[in-house]
Amino acid sequence: SNTQIDWHQRAAALQIDGRPVIAGKRCDTVQGQRFDCISPIDGRKLGEVSRGQAEDVDLAVRAARAAFDDCRWSGRAPAQRKRVLLDFAARILAAQEELALLETLDMGKPIQYSMAVDVPATARCIAWYAEAIDKVYDEIAPTAANALALIQREPMGVIGAIVPWNYPMIMASWKLGPALAAGNSVVLKPSEKSPLTALRLAELALEAGLPEGVFNVVPGFGHEAGEALALHPDVDAIGFTGSTRVGRKMLEYAGRSNLKRVYNELGGKSAVLVFPDFDDLGRAARTVAGSMFFNQGESCNAPSRVLVHESIADEFVLLVKAEAPNYRPADPLDPSTVMGALVDEGQLRTVMGYIASGHEGGASAVTGGNQARADSGGYFVEPTVFDHVDNSMRIAREEIFGPVLSVLRFETEAEAIALANDSPYGLQASVWSSHIDRAHRVARALRAGTVHVNQYDEDDITVPFGGFKQSGNGRDKSLHAFDKYTELKTTWLRI
Ligand code: NAD
Repeated sequence: SNTQIDWHQRAAALQIDGRPVIAGKRCDTVQGQRFDCISPIDGRKLGEVSRGQAEDVDLAVRAARAAFDDCRWSGRAPAQRKRVLLDFAARILAAQEELALLETLDMGKPIQYSMAVDVPATARCIAWYAEAIDKVYDEIAPTAANALALIQREPMGVIGAIVPWNYPMIMASWKLGPALAAGNSVVLKPSEKSPLTALRLAELALEAGLPEGVFNVVPGFGHEAGEALALHPDVDAIGFTGSTRVGRKMLEYAGRSNLKRVYNELGGKSAVLVFPDFDDLGRAARTVAGSMFFNQGESCNAPSRVLVHESIADEFVLLVKAEAPNYRPADPLDPSTVMGALVDEGQLRTVMGYIASGHEGGASAVTGGNQARADSGGYFVEPTVFDHVDNSMRIAREEIFGPVLSVLRFETEAEAIALANDSPYGLQASVWSSHIDRAHRVARALRAGTVHVNQYDEDDITVPFGGFKQSGNGRDKSLHAFDKYTELKTTWLRI
């Protein structure tokens, strides 16, 4: 049905409310500062958003603490919390068109994916944790007969969630789902580049009956509201998703304040290893292009380094090149568009800088490499592929966060593994081989939180998501994430 909607007309009619949600209400910030919210689709100002400061964060943390202390949420039976969160998930789906439009206007992704991916995945995440709450049992330790040791999970208290702009709603839901299900209160700081959907999520949660103060949202900049939240002495844990640079700061802030738990979900430079024994090179190339160019390449797990065996590299590169025209940048509000705009002008400059460094470093340009649709006023880049990339080049080592694929060539399996692991990151990887022994051997040798075999795009809320090395120490999704938002308490009873 989204093909029948006139999204431009709806966008023109949109009213933006950029004020924080604190203690169950929209309110202005203490100092009333604002910033312009610009759409990367055409450079148009969508509205003004509050620029939260330390005092606003403090009000939100106090509200969250008050809600936690009087047990208005954590004290409810799991089955009651489940009902509220299921209603929250249902309201997200009911608001699908509005949320999808906000997401597309705010960060530039194609409307068909905001509709088909971002909104449903957000609702599913909340609903999955809602369904889990009344199915999680605690433990009794196998101690001596005259003693009973109960091992129970308790909510931690106040969780600070700081999220990036590439999947604003989904990233928020990966923190909110487990944190709220476990009985915590949350203060969410969305990215200054894409704050709009988070504010609507907080309103929908209130409408679903989530008690006031349990879920607060303070929009603002990282070095202001974000830093204040991460440094706040009354925040018990930070669920952070973002760059490795800022993840490092999160650990410093925790050390400088109250040693709050820090869960970091950081950047990636994920490697795909294609062996000559794989029998469907066309599918491998299609999958790599699809995963690489999805979301304009602005995915932490984008398969941005493809390592291909020398004997099939020329053929593989031709196949990937042939895919590129399927990802032509176009108007994100057109329901047939598959490649949208980069999030802002700064990101456009960053990506174009990396493309220039690829040329200067001596990589061979295969396709793309240019800005596109400049007369739209938006920030678009062509799908870009470099061949003969050396692993020491910046385009092989650094996360670009744009539609730029680097192809490297190898001769032996050992060389491929060494190249894949020669990275500060370890988020995801993928092995393509028709031999189960090789696929399994290589998958075991790769230092990454997720390894795909003969595919790349599988993803489900039931499966943990997170990285090795400088890709972070957290795990989002699945019951592993639920555990992270609880503290284990042991109670010894004499019997
Ligand atoms: P970023 O690190 O610049 O910002 C992330 C969030 O941190 C934003 O809300 C920002 O305002 C805030 N922030 C920035 N400086 C801060 C500071 N000094 N103190 C407190 N908060 C601060 O990242 P980004 O550009 O928004 O997002 C892109 C990054 O996110 C990429 O590196 C990507 O790989 C990563 N990412 C990782 C995952 C994952 O699950 N591993 C998922 C999505 C994105």
